[in-house]
Amino acid sequence: MSMRPAGMGRGMRNFLTEEEKENAPKVTKELLARVFSWLKPYWKQFVLTLICILISSVLSILPSVLTGEIIDQGLYGRNLEVLIRLILLSLLVTFLSNLIGVAEAFLNAWIAQHITFDMRNEMFRHLESMSQRFFTTNNQGDIVTRMTSDVDGVKRVITDTFSSILSNSITLIVAMVAMFQRNWILAILGIIIVPLFAIPTRRAGKTRWSLTKEAQECNDQINGILNETLSVSGQTLVKLFCKEEEEYKKYEEANRKMIDLNIRESMAGRWFRVIISTVSSIGPMLLYLVGGILMMKYDSDLTVGDITVLVTLLSRMYGPVNQLLNIQVDWIRSMALFTRIFEYLDMEPEIKNPPHPIIPDKATGAVRFDHVGFYYEYPHHILKNVSFELKAGHSVAIVGPSGSGKSTMINLIPRLYDATGGVVYFDETDVKRLDLTWLRSNIGIVTQDTYLFNGTIRENLLYAKPDAKERELIDACEKANIYDFIQTQPDGLDTMVGNRGLKLSGGEKQRISIARVLLKNPALMIFDEATSALDSISEQKIQAAIDPLIESRTSILIAHRLSTILAADEILVLKDGKIVERGQHADLVRKGGVYTELYETQFGAAVNAGDGQNEEGRVAGWNASYTEGED
Ligand code: ADP
Repeated sequence: MSMRPAGMGRGMRNFLTEEEKENAPKVTKELLARVFSWLKPYWKQFVLTLICILISSVLSILPSVLTGEIIDQGLYGRNLEVLIRLILLSLLVTFLSNLIGVAEAFLNAWIAQHITFDMRNEMFRHLESMSQRFFTTNNQGDIVTRMTSDVDGVKRVITDTFSSILSNSITLIVAMVAMFQRNWILAILGIIIVPLFAIPTRRAGKTRWSLTKEAQECNDQINGILNETLSVSGQTLVKLFCKEEEEYKKYEEANRKMIDLNIRESMAGRWFRVIISTVSSIGPMLLYLVGGILMMKYDSDLTVGDITVLVTLLSRMYGPVNQLLNIQVDWIRSMALFTRIFEYLDMEPEIKNPPHPIIPDKATGAVRFDHVGFYYEYPHHILKNVSFELKAGHSVAIVGPSGSGKSTMINLIPRLYDATGGVVYFDETDVKRLDLTWLRSNIGIVTQDTYLFNGTIRENLLYAKPDAKERELIDACEKANIYDFIQTQPDGLDTMVGNRGLKLSGGEKQRISIARVLLKNPALMIFDEATSALDSISEQKIQAAIDPLIESRTSILIAHRLSTILAADEILVLKDGKIVERGQHADLVRKGGVYTELYETQFGAAVNAGDGQNEEGRVAGWNASYTEGED
């Protein structure tokens, strides 16, 4: 899993690193069958490609062979007519070979694009089916890499590796046959010479590659710095901590390292190449020498044309031999790429629809926790033996210190995670037995960090109900107490909310998300109240928005404000994953336990804001110190 994408493309290596060798996948029949199963829908195009490769490879060798005829029959034979005919033929063959090459390239690209298209779609669909845990534990960057770089790698495998194996082998075979036809001694000499000169060039790549790799790491580092410091929140942090100079220095240093590496990289292997190219010209010279000796001393029937053909063919062989020598490397790398992708596709979603899902006729939103336990990682229990019942039409407020497990608790209801002990019931049915889509479509959650897409308010609202009429949208906004605000905007409902809704205040965002969930109209409403400080006006507006949410509906409120708590029928006090107190506000305050403590430190703000005009509020007269955003 830890292998980096098979660094193909830029600075392609022609050898395997230790890491790659260690992680080289076992190429089994199953793996191959699976790789080729992607090709199956396009087998007709594939066969056509093969034919094109075959014809163009044969044709590409032909001009070299014709050179011999041009020299012997045309030039030595002093036959102008034959000369012109041969020249024209040679030109025509070259043209045809290239023409077929175009068709081959098109087919190749077409197949590769279609396969990666299928692959991307399947991966996206699969990723969507993955559970919450997958996204919280996996790095988002890794997920994106698989979707982009790895799949691109596969595209290159198809366009480069597969077709290069084919066309190179065919070119080599045709060239060798042509050489043997001319003269077997020179042909054997050629076959010995080519690999001798092809192998050393492979070495030159090694130095270059290690530099390329270093440069890539440096580049990653630079990207990291850019992403971190130039993001909105990163910049805010930098500014507030006055780290501009420090960040600049870090960036400058990485940047300097990068140019140094780039210069070294572009110079690497230049000297080596000088030697190599000198040495490789020895090959043709040897052929001339041996050919000449055969002609002069041994009375061979070799002609000047033959020797020229042999030399031309020899030089045509270097490329294919070199590439074929790399095939093992390419092959392993390609298989590693496929294996990585298959690994992702094979990951079982943790939470799946049950085999025979139950779809009740109507949802009331009733919830019951029966001795529920939960851990993200064993044995770190987050919820312990939690039991409570929320009857249809009622509401419950969950309060507790930060990290006590409130959000975790509500995540179990729409099965973002599954309880590890006990049973969660929705409408008196174990959630694990309900149809997942049905379950989730009957639950509406307004979270703390409201997620709005970068689009208009309207688009964000329609996400909940694509066919909602204008009147419905306005109704929902009015109920959520956001319509007044929308009307003050020049574009009204078509106002852009900015990246993740950044153009709106926290309160506005939350009210829009309340309107969105009202449009969804779920049986159970879960409201995770923002802990961040809101001014009293915003708070009153939110409160006014929550009221219609809960008055006619089964609802769970993760509450931080007194006003919200008071709206609920029952209060559950959660601490360290356990329900430690439950009941009505007045009784809980009188108890002097965890709730009282919370009340005095947190909910007091509501009193400050003049929002908690209630009996207890006046009686208690606590210390109204407000702790800002606990999370
Ligand atoms: P609350 O909502 O009461 O603030 P949470 O339910 O968010 O509490 O978190 C309860 C505990 O679970 C915390 O200790 C938190 O660190 C941990 N936790 C929350 N989410 C995850 C996660 N995805 N993986 C591991 N631990 C988590």
